[in-house]
Amino acid sequence: MNKREFLRCCALGTAAACTYFPLPSLRWAERGGYSEPEPVEELWKWSKEALFVEPAGDAIHCLKCPNGCVIPVGETGRCRNRVNVRGKLYSNAYGNPCAVHIDPIEKKPLLHFLPGTRAFSIATAGCNLACLNCQNWEISQVSPTETENQDLMPRAVVDACLRGHCASIAYTYSEPTTFYEYAFDTAEIAHQEGIRNVWKSNGYIEEVPLRKLCRVIDAANIDLKSFDEDVYARLNAGSLAPVLRTLRVFREMGVWLEITNLVIPGWTDDLDMIRRMCNWLCNNGLSDSPLHLSRFVPLYKLNRLAPTPVKRLEEAHAVAVAEGMHYVYVGNVPAHPTEHTYCHKCRKRVIERRGYAILSNDLENGRCRHCGTSIPGVWHT
Ligand code: SF4
Repeated sequence: MNKREFLRCCALGTAAACTYFPLPSLRWAERGGYSEPEPVEELWKWSKEALFVEPAGDAIHCLKCPNGCVIPVGETGRCRNRVNVRGKLYSNAYGNPCAVHIDPIEKKPLLHFLPGTRAFSIATAGCNLACLNCQNWEISQVSPTETENQDLMPRAVVDACLRGHCASIAYTYSEPTTFYEYAFDTAEIAHQEGIRNVWKSNGYIEEVPLRKLCRVIDAANIDLKSFDEDVYARLNAGSLAPVLRTLRVFREMGVWLEITNLVIPGWTDDLDMIRRMCNWLCNNGLSDSPLHLSRFVPLYKLNRLAPTPVKRLEEAHAVAVAEGMHYVYVGNVPAHPTEHTYCHKCRKRVIERRGYAILSNDLENGRCRHCGTSIPGVWHT
């Protein structure tokens, strides 16, 4: 990996452990930054008719996510990858990922799902939120026409996953809801080959597409960005209620679920808000879902903010445990004692980790070797 490739891996948060699939540099960097999408008049090779739409006069109403865009002819939705071409809505993010890596599953993060396995990870350009702190804004806040992409149709993704000896395919990095058609078709083929599917998402999706998606997704990590509608509006350009519905639906549909909450100083580090969030999770049957309290580092439009103090993360961890969450991890703090898994009954360590690596695993058929308590998760392929 040369220096340029390494820096790009860093931007995707993967430098420590990914296998890098070489891609040409992103055009946005050469052009010096983001611009509004150009009007779209023609289809291209990677266009696929969009699901979940209804007519709205001369425009089309997209029903895939709570943004509910009404898209006139020649224009794109807020996610920048659904386009109205001559009165029909198309996804232009089908078979053209701009990021392709093999990651440890722990990087998603998923700590109770097939530990120690590899996830073949893909993303196209586009996102339906606009977070001020976005880690991957170079690919999330642009259209697929602005990134350099690979030509990787669903069957080719699955074949590459098999060649890479990966247990799962992860739809990740940007927002997979916006490349739903591509992810869904890939996930169906993956299941036929015995490969699991992992959804790393902001959870900002309407209920009908979500329930259909649950047929092919085995595990999800959802970013619960805060527990406050006003913060969601100002920090993420979204709203909280649909994300809470997504958590409930995943649970009801039996998809293995882990939750990430990024603790940002001055934005999402209020301990009372974290307490209310954990209280809601426990009251909605999610006390066994691992909660990842992640450390913020300065990025994108919040690049002048200091990183989250470790002390505040530990206070948030104590609040979450006191509210009844059974498996709480502090993320993005290397070698922190909470990176291991502890049995919530006898408090003995059952999985020892160092970063993304598993050092020891004391589970026996998914149970704590010390007291026999069942540890929630998906432990075997
Ligand atoms: S998926 Fe994209 S086009 Fe559809 S409503 Fe959401 S942001 Fe708008």
